[in-house]
Amino acid sequence: MVKGTHILNCWYQRNCCFNLYVKDGLVLREEQSAAYPRTNLSVPDFNPRGCHNGACYSLQMYHPARIKYPLKRVGQRGEGRWERVSWDEALTDIADGLLDTLTRDGPDTVIFDPGGSVASLIFDVAILRLANLLDAIVLDTNCELGDEQQGAAVTLGTPVACKSADDYFYSDLILIWGGNPAYTQAPNCHFVNEARYKGARVVTISPDHSASAIHADWWIPIQPGTDAALALAMAQVIISEGLHDAGFVREQTDLPFLARPDSRTFLRESDIKARGRDDVFYLYDLRRKKIVQTSKRTLKLGGTLPALEGEYEVDTKAGKVKAKPVFQLLKEKLEEEYTPEKASRLCGVHPDTIRRLALAIARAKAASCVAGASLSKYYHGDLMMRAQILVFALCGQMGKKGAGYDTLPYLAADGGLRLPFAEGLGPLDTLKWMLTLLPVFLEMKMKGHTNEMIYFELARRHPWYSVNSVLFWYLQGGLKEISGRSREWDPYLPRDVDEYIEEARRRRWQELPPEKEPKVLFVVPGNSLRRVRGAHRLREHLFPKLDLIVAIDLRMSSTALYSDYVLPAASSYEKADVSEWNTPLSPFAHATNAAVPPLGEAKPEWEILVLLAKKIQQRARERGVLSFRDRGGKRRRLDDVYSRMTFRGKLTENDQEKVAQTAIELSTNLGKVSWQELQKKGFARFTALGQHPANLGNATDIMPSETITPHTWHTEKKIPWATLTRRIQFYIDHPLYLELGEELPVHKDPPKSGGDYPLVMTGGHSRYSIHASLKDNPLLLELERGEPAMFMSVEDAEEREIRDGDRVKVYNDIGQFFVRTKVSPAVRPGQVIIYHAWENFQFEGGIGHRNVIPSPINPVELAGGYFHLRPAPAILQPGQNDRETRVEVLKV
Ligand code: SF4
Repeated sequence: MVKGTHILNCWYQRNCCFNLYVKDGLVLREEQSAAYPRTNLSVPDFNPRGCHNGACYSLQMYHPARIKYPLKRVGQRGEGRWERVSWDEALTDIADGLLDTLTRDGPDTVIFDPGGSVASLIFDVAILRLANLLDAIVLDTNCELGDEQQGAAVTLGTPVACKSADDYFYSDLILIWGGNPAYTQAPNCHFVNEARYKGARVVTISPDHSASAIHADWWIPIQPGTDAALALAMAQVIISEGLHDAGFVREQTDLPFLARPDSRTFLRESDIKARGRDDVFYLYDLRRKKIVQTSKRTLKLGGTLPALEGEYEVDTKAGKVKAKPVFQLLKEKLEEEYTPEKASRLCGVHPDTIRRLALAIARAKAASCVAGASLSKYYHGDLMMRAQILVFALCGQMGKKGAGYDTLPYLAADGGLRLPFAEGLGPLDTLKWMLTLLPVFLEMKMKGHTNEMIYFELARRHPWYSVNSVLFWYLQGGLKEISGRSREWDPYLPRDVDEYIEEARRRRWQELPPEKEPKVLFVVPGNSLRRVRGAHRLREHLFPKLDLIVAIDLRMSSTALYSDYVLPAASSYEKADVSEWNTPLSPFAHATNAAVPPLGEAKPEWEILVLLAKKIQQRARERGVLSFRDRGGKRRRLDDVYSRMTFRGKLTENDQEKVAQTAIELSTNLGKVSWQELQKKGFARFTALGQHPANLGNATDIMPSETITPHTWHTEKKIPWATLTRRIQFYIDHPLYLELGEELPVHKDPPKSGGDYPLVMTGGHSRYSIHASLKDNPLLLELERGEPAMFMSVEDAEEREIRDGDRVKVYNDIGQFFVRTKVSPAVRPGQVIIYHAWENFQFEGGIGHRNVIPSPINPVELAGGYFHLRPAPAILQPGQNDRETRVEVLKV
């Protein structure tokens, strides 16, 4: 028996340690391990972790459709005709194609698309290292997935923050608002139920009676896309009833900061003094009865008592102006536009329910919300999240045990950070690497920036070679024709999207993708033809431009099917590997082991990419193509790519396990666990956030016998937030926000994406797969209808004479697809739901439901040049959305 886990993107619920029983070279049985320690005696334990998807992983591994040998396309792309070839033949062809492209078209025509599935730390290291050596483009896909949690990023400085699931046990009110943990957090959900046994009240706010609503004490149905209206009305009740936590608001938020109603901007030092700074702000001190500068270095208020209300006359360079605390501006806006009665007309929630909910959260000892990724997938998801955070902050429900607004759960071993870019592995190399970072570190330290800000800045300046995939697909993939129609559907937009994109380029708010036509696409192990909203356009517009498409996968995904070469990867039970990231929800890093050898000729991903580097080096020498010109115009060698890929022979193609060992042993946040211990036990508890920039958003110390509560560095240590104002920032006076009237959180009606049709098509993570992985697992297919289904309300079905199981056509202005209906009383009239991850080929004619999703770009996400509002890896770039797609359904 050996330990293993599933290197899948089961993000919010990952990871789980499994016992793998092996006989005659086959995994015969897999069962959950129940060896996780309890954090302390006052909270329930984590055992046993696992979900129904992972529990039948070996079925997938031995699935007849498993790719076992390198395959070369012999028919047309997508036709499904393949020839088995040797590794040498496949790698030679690919290496030659790459050499031709690099020298003829340049490295910016070589694209690596890791998608959301690159859950292996070692695979990610290999992709980034090879792409870095070839100066190729790596697509940054987190925002494209709709996981950017933009509202949290602009309010908190980073979208990352999450508690450990056992911290829910200290909550007396738990909101499930913008997620469906019964589907997406199978191994963690028991903590919410256990908290209920202890007396916590669970409230689910969702349009449909979801699987998570079933287990709640209170289900609040809401019109899709109107969560901001509900939250703002709750904020109105909290403020008007005087239930807000004034101490928290004064200390932790920008609500006491003075803003000028005349210019709608913050009052800044540059308004008051010649050569004054743009990032120095003011509040009105009720004790000293004058305006004073806000501190950037600490949240401590000292002797000041900031005014939250009122209007104050200020002498500026241009004469006297009136300024008001943001709290006052907010209060006025809420009174005017978001009383429960007014909001009720927008969101469909009864005014009394809004009042009861507002009182419940204000009076709770510790109110928390379960992390979910649904709201981020709305066009105005940022406004919804900003409004939600406002409610939590007004009530002081952040940064204390059992409380908090959880957003993106992220916690990673930090040892893999430098492996993609370091020249070597010795202490001297570490020193050299650190010296390159030192000037920025010192410069920012001098300015009083926190470690979180500094690490984020380093991540921004580091050579990630990432390009926002949404803009890439938009400009190169043909999505412009549909995602560029935002103004047609969004009545609030004064300008066309292309104007905003041009402005973002001109002002350097966002880095635009290269203009050159792409030539080579590595699908590693992304699945863009399934994943991208409106993906059929990529097939029509992008794929014909590509000379070479290579997929590395276990299975024939929708995208692998359209590739020229498919290279077989080892499964999670056939290699030593480490999960790329974990979450504080279950704060354990996991390793998996090569319980059995890879099937057929499959190989671990490190081996595949190192062998490719070896072949590039070999062919470069044989062909005399010794260098190419990189994007900066310098010549780079091709005849030593293998040598550099392997750290001069220290980590060769046979060293997948050694790479895993190196990454673990370089980690500073796993309590110095050795690779051997981790392999034997299967997991190790995180002991700190470490140096990974994303981890630091959690802003808390991880203690051995304490549950994890995010944001305590701010609430207890008074360390500033990583925003322009150094506070939880609700007022954003960036030009784009001002133009769009979003300087404060507001509700905006969802756009009619796809045209003016009566039904809103939403979605959600599937219960019976991990994204598209396992979506064709025979056992899991038996647990649902075995084919794609669209959930529809009884009323809408009756109106269209549709019965359960009927085949229907779903259409709008941009496309159509066919699907079976599942008529369900759990769905509200006006809404239809398709849970995601069905492969295109599982739909009739190979046309999936993404065909009708245009994902209009929301220009506000192009904002930059505003301290924390600047693109960083995985965040603060344009994202895709799908939750407000309008359709009509016709029985066929
Ligand atoms: S798929 Fe993910 S959540 Fe499910 S058992 Fe495996 S590791 Fe756990």
